[in-house]
Amino acid sequence: MVDIKAVHKSFGTLEVLRGIDLEVRTGEVTVVLGPSGSGKSTLLRTINHLEKVDSGWISVDGSLVGYRRSGDKLYELREREVLKQRTQIGFVFQNFNLFPHLTVLENIAEAPVSALKRPRKDALDSARRLLDRVGLADKAGAYPKQLSGGQQQRVAIARALALEPKLLLFDEPTSALDPELVGEVLDVIKDLALQGTTMIVVTHEIGFAREVADTVVFMDEGRIVEQGAPGDVLDAPRHDRTKAFLSKVL
Ligand code: ATP
Ligand code: MG
Repeated sequence: MVDIKAVHKSFGTLEVLRGIDLEVRTGEVTVVLGPSGSGKSTLLRTINHLEKVDSGWISVDGSLVGYRRSGDKLYELREREVLKQRTQIGFVFQNFNLFPHLTVLENIAEAPVSALKRPRKDALDSARRLLDRVGLADKAGAYPKQLSGGQQQRVAIARALALEPKLLLFDEPTSALDPELVGEVLDVIKDLALQGTTMIVVTHEIGFAREVADTVVFMDEGRIVEQGAPGDVLDAPRHDRTKAFLSKVL
């Protein structure tokens, strides 16, 4: 489903991604771990072309991200085509990023109406179903500021699902939450995993990684240092840097 090959990315003289190769199969959950500054967010952002790669390529469900191939040549997609591609890749951020002036229901229905041109009534009906799925059916008319952080993040997940993406990316979805609210958000993500949603999740929640991940990836200084089944990477890490990192977060 996701194929990342030899991806390099620098900001000025700082090389943030130094040759990333990663494959994610359909229906699988990949958890990405690594210290601050190791390039985790940048990697996620390249997958939906919020950052352009300097070299290498990424494909999602058979389509090159940000480019079109014609013969031997690559052509950069136009803004409109990039936006269309991005509708197939849901992104959930650390800080929810809900629209403050829209109700919960409108937040979820907005993109299907504006980006996919769905009839408003259909979009609102789907939004209600999605709200129910994240356990917030009673909050349809509330505004984001009237919700707890955990509830806001569940709305953000419902909003990402509204575009029926092929792939969901999560960038530290629980790290802005009070500890007692972390579980309710992880439960929603766990539920999506059980239903076979393909996901890449950057998180420091090791318990979640152990339980939900098919593959755990450890990044350091722009490289994938180690990857494998959670039992291998988390319980029997082979690299000193992975060991050192895990000893701090476990
Ligand atoms: P954290 O755990 O703190 O979120 P991270 O692993 O997600 O870290 P990134 O956000 O990918 O790390 O950043 C990797 C490096 O790239 C950092 O040194 C960061 O300062 C730098 N960086 C990220 N985005 C930019 C940018 N737009 N311009 C310049 N430097 C950037
Ligand atoms: Mg980050």
